[in-house]
Amino acid sequence: MYQFSHTWPYERVMGDLYLTECPFCGSRAVPLHLKKEAFERAKEGIKTEAVLPCCHEKLTILRIDDDYLWTDRALR
Ligand SMILES: [Zn+2]
Repeated sequence: MYQFSHTWPYERVMGDLYLTECPFCGSRAVPLHLKKEAFERAKEGIKTEAVLPCCHEKLTILRIDDDYLWTDRALR
């Protein structure tokens, strides 16, 4: 079910989440607006959604591990 093509790396800086680069438009250092509760739930494998501020693409996040977001579509 989970494939590397469906993952995207993220950074956590002082409690804020960032994508080093947007998978859709290529913007750099994109803040990922995810509530703390949603982040914690995603780490347990509960699906959540986030809209990227750069290009307003919606990411459906199936789960989050320490380094990657796992989404429902191929990003690479
Ligand atoms: Zn973007």
